[in-house]
Amino acid sequence: MGEILLENTLTNRKEAFVPLRPGEVRMYTCGPTVYDYAHIGNYRTFVFQDILRRFLRSRGLRMNHVMNLTDVDDRIIQNAAEKGISIFDYTAQYIQAFKEDMKALSCETPEHVVRATDHIADMVSLIQKLEAKGLTYRSDGSIYYRIAKFPAYGKLSKVDLSGIKAGARVETDRYEKDDARDFALWKAPKPGEHFWETEIGPGRPGWHIECSAMAMKYLGDTLDIHTGGIDLAFPHHENEIAQSEAATGHPFVKYWLHAEHLIIDGEKMSKSLGNFYTLRDLFKKGHKPSTVRYLLASVPYRRQLNFTADSIQQAASSVERLRNFVVRLKEAKFPAGSNAAMEQRARKAIADFEAGLSDDLNTALALAAIFDLVRDVNTAIDRGEFRQQDALHVLSAMKKFDQIFAVLEDNDDTNLQSVGFTPSGPEISPEEIEALIAERQKAREHRNFKRADEIRQELAERGILLEDTRDGGVRWKKK
Ligand code: AMP
Ligand code: ZN
Repeated sequence: MGEILLENTLTNRKEAFVPLRPGEVRMYTCGPTVYDYAHIGNYRTFVFQDILRRFLRSRGLRMNHVMNLTDVDDRIIQNAAEKGISIFDYTAQYIQAFKEDMKALSCETPEHVVRATDHIADMVSLIQKLEAKGLTYRSDGSIYYRIAKFPAYGKLSKVDLSGIKAGARVETDRYEKDDARDFALWKAPKPGEHFWETEIGPGRPGWHIECSAMAMKYLGDTLDIHTGGIDLAFPHHENEIAQSEAATGHPFVKYWLHAEHLIIDGEKMSKSLGNFYTLRDLFKKGHKPSTVRYLLASVPYRRQLNFTADSIQQAASSVERLRNFVVRLKEAKFPAGSNAAMEQRARKAIADFEAGLSDDLNTALALAAIFDLVRDVNTAIDRGEFRQQDALHVLSAMKKFDQIFAVLEDNDDTNLQSVGFTPSGPEISPEEIEALIAERQKAREHRNFKRADEIRQELAERGILLEDTRDGGVRWKKK
């Protein structure tokens, strides 16, 4: 199999992916800040990292993947205080919701899903290391990173901070610091705020130090891959680099991968525009989990994804088409034997699919390979050129596809249940209707009119109307 190319934000180039330890991928993903339900933009980024890890696994690589949950930050503290509950009680519901959402979207669970508040000691010792190296300063009980001491600052996002005056005292993020670029490693407690009593004083961690501490704790000084949405490249990831590399003296991350944003109808998602959706909002509107996953996965991660009513309809019909195709291959009876050309065709589809994904996870190319196969096989079937043995080869291509996209299994109802939705239920089958009608007839013969009425009622609730015919029989129709 050919090499895997990944576009590295650090170098702005597509590079061949070679893990530092053969056979193993050490990857870190910035997870959600659990102050509210995550929105579908967030899930664009999480589905991207799921596709990435599934693809790497399909190449025989073992994943060691860490995702953090940011369960302490200004918004969490504020919202919990407003509700008069602890930050732990406040975040518990959103952590649960996030896990349910990820399950509904068929995202694999990373090997380590870790909470910031469980790693305060690791953050404190990392801050102590930076203090010992003279890279920090204290101000009003908070500890800051002095960016001027890290000359490589900006190498990831190529941000030019030369215009920002060093030494100008500014108040950003509600804290005093010496230089606008500097950022808080440790925040002094404010009245009524949750804080930890530690060796570096009372307070709570800044957001950036969380990721450095947790990434290096589980994955070592240098990771293979770090992922996140593009908005995190600056300042969050620059700050992670500054903290980690200054502390260890080693490169922090070999490949930085950033997903472009999801936008809605060409506009930024925002609550005020009313175009802000959680996953559950979409399920309430009747969209299936597989449709949402497909849509989020179908646009290559380095391209903006424009979410529209049209795009979600198209995603739904694409999944439908693929599922119907697989059912056709499994259930139809084809003439015995095989057609060598079909086996070749299926192999080519697999090769093209792999080539698409190997090209910086180009999911659009990969999907095109599969839809070309669907079209060609359907044509061959219609022309009578398809044989029973060929189905196996084509199904194995579809299986390869689904190892990555995970939309073929008819599991939407179960996935909806994992976020607490009661699915509308499968349509009632004609056999079941007939059986209930027969039972109702029996009940009537036994003059059990109560039971007969219950059955009529149950069928009505499931959309089936009964009409008693003149000859004593019963006809049914859908409402
Ligand atoms: P947050 O919970 O805000 O820390 O974000 C979680 C992840 O979602 C981060 O990787 C963000 O970069 C990413 N993200 C936020 N908004 C969007 C968006 N509109 N499209 C894609 N990813 C996003
Ligand atoms: Zn992070």
